[in-house]
Amino acid sequence: MDVNRFHREGILTEGRRGNWVWSRDSEEVGRIGYSFTQSGLVLDYRVRAYGSDWEAVMETVPITYAACNYGGTRPYFQCPGYVDGRRCGRRVGKLFSGGRYFLCRHCYSIAYRSQSETGYDRALRRANKTRMALGGEPGTAYWIAPKPKGMWQRTYQRHREQIERDEGQADHLFLSKYAHILSREEREMYFGSDAH
Ligand SMILES: [Zn+2]
Repeated sequence: MDVNRFHREGILTEGRRGNWVWSRDSEEVGRIGYSFTQSGLVLDYRVRAYGSDWEAVMETVPITYAACNYGGTRPYFQCPGYVDGRRCGRRVGKLFSGGRYFLCRHCYSIAYRSQSETGYDRALRRANKTRMALGGEPGTAYWIAPKPKGMWQRTYQRHREQIERDEGQADHLFLSKYAHILSREEREMYFGSDAH
């Protein structure tokens, strides 16, 4: 769900209501009702978790306006997510539907990390273990530690390559898990132009 698209279509105007329809190859794949009120964009749709009944969901997404670089203002969604007991409220251009609610990418990645262990977690954990064995900090935000005293250069090199492979694999697993919530442009950016 792209706020600029909604803006261009005139949906962010008080009193507007209607249905937003997603289609793929000219076939409808999703539909939500919307109405624009003083408290924001009210979404009205149905979801069904695997193996259970359809359930009606109503979600209000506040809209805020901020100045843009070239003058004027542009609208943003204010993410309505509550993840790990905390309100998100980030100002974002896009919301994704990977579950029950439309949330920002950040909320989805947190929810994903707190789920049961996946290939993504395992690859990252493996990388972190190697990072710490070399005397460094876990996490891709840190540099890999320099070669410990007494370790063969070749062994060190092998560890570094292993870390890079594991982290590359984790990125790939994360993105492929979430390919369905990415926009077409994002999918092309991450998976190449022939990805669908
Ligand atoms: Zn969020």
